[in-house]
Amino acid sequence: MVGFRETLTHEAGELAFAEERRAAALRRKLALHDETGAKLKSDVDHAASAAARIHRYQPVIDETPQCPHCWILRAKKEPLSNQESGGKNDLFKCRECGYEVPLEP
Ligand SMILES: [Zn+2]
Repeated sequence: MVGFRETLTHEAGELAFAEERRAAALRRKLALHDETGAKLKSDVDHAASAAARIHRYQPVIDETPQCPHCWILRAKKEPLSNQESGGKNDLFKCRECGYEVPLEP
């Protein structure tokens, strides 16, 4: 029975070693998962606060139209300048981000 006791102990040791390795692999996987989760949470917060900026958007400041793209996505007040072509096809364009808005939709 002494020999069998050693055999069982050896078997248990092998199983424990395999589980130890599995735990280490899972820990690495969990760390990556946490990283992805943190990135997603940050993206969610960023998108939600960008969306909330609509409530503070000023389309025109001192007669100057303001770029909606810069405000919503970057929280920056940037003027739109008129790309004069004459008539209703006039385009307003942001020099900062290139966003274009027609004078009349
Ligand atoms: Zn812009």
